Amino acid sequence: MNVRVRYAPSPTGLQHIGGIRTALFNYLFARSQGGKFILRIEDTDRERFDPAALQDIYDSFAWLGIRWDEGPDKDGPHSPYFQSERQSSYEAAAQELIESDHAYECFCSSERLEALRAEQSKGKSSVQGYDRRCRDLSDEEREQLRRENPNPVVRFKTPLEGDAVFEDMLLGRVKRKNRDINPDPVLLKSDRFPTYHLANVVDDHTMEISHVLRAQEWLPSTALHILLYRAFGWELPVFCHLPMVMGKDGQKLSKRHGATSLIEFRRRGYLPEAVINYVALLGWAYDDSREFFTLGELEDVFDANKLNKAPAVFDYTKLDWFNGNYIRECDDARLLSLLAPFVEEAGISADADQLQQALPLIKERMKRLEEAPELLGFLVGDPAEYPVEDLIPKKMDAAGTIDVLAGVLGLLDGLSTRSDEENEERFRALAEGLETKLGNVLMPLRVAVTGSKVSPPLFGSIKLIGEEAARARVDAAIQKLKSTLG
Ligand code: GLU
Repeated sequence: MNVRVRYAPSPTGLQHIGGIRTALFNYLFARSQGGKFILRIEDTDRERFDPAALQDIYDSFAWLGIRWDEGPDKDGPHSPYFQSERQSSYEAAAQELIESDHAYECFCSSERLEALRAEQSKGKSSVQGYDRRCRDLSDEEREQLRRENPNPVVRFKTPLEGDAVFEDMLLGRVKRKNRDINPDPVLLKSDRFPTYHLANVVDDHTMEISHVLRAQEWLPSTALHILLYRAFGWELPVFCHLPMVMGKDGQKLSKRHGATSLIEFRRRGYLPEAVINYVALLGWAYDDSREFFTLGELEDVFDANKLNKAPAVFDYTKLDWFNGNYIRECDDARLLSLLAPFVEEAGISADADQLQQALPLIKERMKRLEEAPELLGFLVGDPAEYPVEDLIPKKMDAAGTIDVLAGVLGLLDGLSTRSDEENEERFRALAEGLETKLGNVLMPLRVAVTGSKVSPPLFGSIKLIGEEAARARVDAAIQKLKSTLG
């Protein structure tokens, strides 16, 4: 079988991480089968169309390094790949269904439909949705109504009996009673634009899509799509409804849980390889142990038989963990260029040399690139204002901390020339002399030098800013502590 799959986003909003997962699985499925991956833009909802959302589709996949074989910006045998440019094929398809008695024109005014909805919502009617008033009009009635309303919509004649049945690649046999499908949904609107259902089915057929991999939220639509394929007399593609992506609370992933659009993840400093790696594991696993995959490796090992039915839980902490790993693996030149916009935006005027030297220190600590400015800030100027209490270790007071820092001053001389082990040895001896723990010596020093309790490795940081600057900062900390003693 010629495998052809598609990602079919509607450019109405920013690319959601769930959509990225759908696209990635389609792409990997195509690659694993030697097939083609197609991008089709489902832009028939002209009111909600947003050019920025279209641009976001291009930008997102360029950033991820995922390319389609056919798409709007890459010609193929079934162009155009914008649904808005395929209008005539939908009109022809709707006409075909009218002629084969699978669809009909509906002349009901929006006022009538509104009133019907209002009545149904009051619970006065046992039927929900369209009441099929125009389904069985006589030819004369139709003629008459057409004179009054020359722009009817076209509705599908949902069969009243029977079931929509199909075999899902992941879920197995899926069956839905035709009676439970939305009664006679609109296929072609009065502006002659198709609805999602018609355009989607017509294009999947015309573009010879062999497999439809999409999120489980589309499952209710698929029942209707099955009926449409039957009405046209077309062969069904293989459907595969991917598990939903949930937050930790079991609810569909949404803004309440954290970032959801790809652009937000980019802005927070996730690397594309971390996003790809993590997203690939949302509903798919290679085996019980291996977690790290590059895009290229995924292309080789992806196997749709290993998709999971159960909902996938989006774990931000795990994504951070992946990202931290990829940051550590990133080569310095690339990391520096990735960091540049974050550093610049934070107004840190470090030169390339300073950044280069600081890199090994912060590389170990960062989970997201957005953390870099905070980690780097102390390198290029005095630490930001910090609360004096931050200097004082637990179970110690200001006077005791002054003694510690006074002792520390004696160890700064020559610190840069000694190894970390040697330095640690000396600070340990100081702590013993003061009858306290090493941590109670290093913590006030860390806050004095960097302004924060979490910082890049301490000795490395002092070497970078220089012993003199470190001494000045420790002095300033001592003054700060003294001022609390009155
Ligand atoms: N345009 C639909 C969307 O926005 C496509 C759904 C499908 O894959 O059929 O997701």
